[in-house]
Order: sequence, then structure tokens, then C-alpha cells
Amino acid sequence: MTALAHVIDGAAWEGDGPATQEVVDPSTEQVIAHARRGTAADVDRAVGAARRACADWGRRTPRDRADALLAIAAAVDEHAAELAELESRNTGKPAGLAADDVAATADTFRFMAGAVRAQVALAAGEYVEGSTSTILREPVGVVGAITPWNYPLLMAAWKLGPILAAGNTCVLKPSEQTPLTTLRLAELVADILPAGVLNVVTGDGSVVGAAIATHPDVDLVSVTGSVRAGQAVAAAAAATLKRVHLELGGKAPVLVFADADLDAVADGVVFAGFGNSGQDCGAACRVIVDAAVHDDLVARLVKRVEAMVVGAPTEGEDVEMGPLVSREHHTRVVAALEQAYADGARAAVGGKALDRPGFFVEPTVLVDIPAGAACTTEEIFGPVVTVETFTDEDAAVAAANATPYGLSASVWTESARRAAGLPSRLDFGTVWVNDHLAFATEMPWGGFKSSGYGRDLSAYALDDYSRTKHVMVKHHA
Ligand code: NAD
Repeated sequence: MTALAHVIDGAAWEGDGPATQEVVDPSTEQVIAHARRGTAADVDRAVGAARRACADWGRRTPRDRADALLAIAAAVDEHAAELAELESRNTGKPAGLAADDVAATADTFRFMAGAVRAQVALAAGEYVEGSTSTILREPVGVVGAITPWNYPLLMAAWKLGPILAAGNTCVLKPSEQTPLTTLRLAELVADILPAGVLNVVTGDGSVVGAAIATHPDVDLVSVTGSVRAGQAVAAAAAATLKRVHLELGGKAPVLVFADADLDAVADGVVFAGFGNSGQDCGAACRVIVDAAVHDDLVARLVKRVEAMVVGAPTEGEDVEMGPLVSREHHTRVVAALEQAYADGARAAVGGKALDRPGFFVEPTVLVDIPAGAACTTEEIFGPVVTVETFTDEDAAVAAANATPYGLSASVWTESARRAAGLPSRLDFGTVWVNDHLAFATEMPWGGFKSSGYGRDLSAYALDDYSRTKHVMVKHHA
């Protein structure tokens, strides 16, 4: 199998080093491709191409860039079935979920095409007598983007949409496990974007990612990934004082009050806790329920989880949950379950690895969890939902906030007072009421605390990938 090439300066680039990486179908454990393991020299070549492309791309009008983004969205739509199949094969996610990812990818490019033509800022005017001030919105320059394996194509789009719309050029490094759809996207846009505007270098975080974070000619580095990777990138970026945009982990609490519609909660937790096998930074993984309805909710959850269809994407359209992404991650999730049992927790349903090829773990609901157990505070990033109880509202809010993460949370209640009042007391970048993991491309996504800083989606992402310049013209003495 020949290794897939990087994409640099509008062309395939075989790479500076000989090393390659196996790309595996996690539902069969079969090797389906080989990708290049890039080097610092490959990154340097890509950054050079991106820098050369900056002047022209950055000076284009918003309308011209928007036209290119709309063409990218159309290309994604045209190849939707192929991209979804490739994503499914590389991640193991069910076909329907992969199709949703592809549709959201196209929508992201489409939204950013519109948003860049409708940006707002403080009005130009005489803020100092005799001088007129205006604000110019400029691209930052060359942006390094580093993406994870859970939504490979969609996370690439969440970065590329605003990065390109704002007039930057990009060097993108996909996860070493899931480079296929990103490389295919780069091929699809080759005739749409000028050479050098989008460059893709595949390879390891510690080599390619680190080279991007340290490169003196990269102006901003944007990472979606683990806290560990975010810390490494932010530390490396400090040496050249490049801007940093971080979307890191999460441990989303799901606060369930006694007046909630428990069927809706159970449906919501199954969708948002086990969708994508729980490999979602916003996953509904930590239920905190009023003790009065604990048993009732757990019974409903168990019933739904027992009915879930787990399997490879090729096993039919009714498959709801696939495998974990890799052997290594499977080992991590199984170890987290063993730790939970050692701490005293019990599985109300599921609880172990599936005995079949592929990196499958049963959808699992953990109960009887001692206070402060690691399974309720540390990100497991697998199909594991914990259930804790509370007896009063203040304690529920305190428990929800007692995590280093601050990405997302949900509140389930029929009370208008709680629906209006609790979100401002919860320290998370997104708070849903009576829903979980619902996204609107127009609305920002991003975290507080250890979940990072910077916003994806929405016009705020455009702000993050641009810089403001104040121009002041004195025309009266
Ligand atoms: P990861 O941190 O292992 O890898 C993410 C990316 O960072 C990969 O491309 C990897 O190669 C790169 N990387 C790793 N170490 C690096 C380093 N030292 N320097 C530069 N780059 C480095 O994460 P993952 O396992 O691929 O993804 C799962 C994590 O991503 C979870 O923690 C999850 O919560 C988080 N995530 C967050 C969001 C969000 O929007 N906040 C979305 C998806 C995933």
C-alpha cells in the first residue's frame, strides 16, 4: 500500500522522511491505508507555502473569499456519500452520524461565507475631536490547525471555515489516527483555493504538531484535543508569542431535577452520552439527579441502553453505536471502568469490552459511585455515563461546577425559574436546558477553565482568527 501524500502548495508532497503510519478501521482492526509521518522539514515547507499565499488571499474581498467557501461547501455536498463512507471507515462511527458530520461540514463553510460579508464593529467616527477613527479587520496570517480523531472532517471544517473566511492561510495537521477525510477534502478544494492557502501535513503530534507550535512564521496555532496537547502547544507557542486557540476536553454534567420529563432525559442521555461512542468533548457523561427520581431515571436509562444496537457501520442502518477509535483508547476506557469498580461503583448496564473484533466497549451506566471518584471527575471519552445524586439545588450546582473542565452542561427541568436562573450559575461555555449536544452553526462553541479558550462556530470564531487595527486620521488642528 503506498502511503498517502501530504498536500503542500497545491500539490501532493511525498515528504521529507520515509516513515509512515498505519491507518486502521477500528471496527475490523484492518489496516485500510498508510499515511506519511511528517517531519519538521515538511512543516517548514508547508509554512513557506502558506506564507507566500498570504498576501493574495488576505487581500481578496470578503465576497471573493465567500465565493470560494461556498464552492467548498458545494464540493463537500457533491461528495457527501464518499466522505461519509470514508469517515465511517476510519472512525467506526455509524453511517448516519458520519452523514450528519458531512452535512454540518458543508453548513460550516456556508455560514462562514455569509458571516464574513456581514461583520460588525464600532462605528467609524470622531472619538477624538478633529480625528476620524476606523477599525480595519485583518487576517492574522499563517494559522496552524491541529485536529482530533473524534470528528476529523467536522473539526477540520470548524477550523478552516473561519480561518479561510477571515483571510488567513493554513497548515493543518489531522490526528495521526484519522487523516483520510482531511486529505480527501484537501484534494477536493485544490481547484477552488489558490495553491498554498490550505496545506495538510500528516503525522505525530509530538513531531508535526510540535513543529507547527514552535515555527516562528506561524502566527496563531489552534488545537482541538486533549488538555495535555493544549498545554504542550500553549507552552511551545509562548516562545514565539504566537496566538493560541484551544478547544480541549470536557466532562459535561447533566443536572436532572425531580420535575423533569424523565423520558426526555433518558433519550437525551442515550443520544448525547453514547453517540459517537461517547467520544465527544461535550458528551452527556455525568448525570447528577435529584435523589427522589434516581431509581426511576436509572430504570429508564437501563431499558434504553439495553435496546441499543452496537456494531460496525457496515452492519446495517439501525446500528447506533460503533467502536472506540483505537486499541490504545480502548485500553484506556477499559482501565477507567476497572478503576471505577475498584472505587466501589457498579454497572447498572453494560460495563465491559465486547468480545469481538474491533475496539468495542458496551454502553455502560455506572451507579453507586462514591463521592469524588475519578469516573465522575476525569474525562473517560468512551460510552460510559455515571449517575450521582443531589438533595438540594445549591449542592447540585456546586457538584456540577466541581470539575476542572468548563465546556458544556445541561439542566433538565420544567421550572421556568430554574431554566432562567441556573445557566448563569454554571461555569460552562454552553448550557442547554432540556437538551444536550444540540448545535447551531450561528452560536459559539468553546470552553472555560481546563477546556481551553477561543470559540468555534459563529461570528466569534471569525474574531478569533482576525486582528483589529485602529486607523486614526487627524484632519483638524
Ligand atoms: P490528542 O490531544 O491526543 O490529539 C489531538 C491532536 O493534537 C492530534 O492531532 C495530535 O496529534 C495533536 N497533538 C498531541 N500532542 C501534541 C503536542 N505535544 N503538540 C502538538 N500537537 C499535539 O486528542 P485526541 O485524543 O485526538 O482527541 C480527544 C480529545 O479532544 C479529548 O480530550 C476531547 O475532549 C477533545 N476534544 C475537544 C473538542 C472541543 O471542541 N473542545 C472537540 C473534540 C475533541
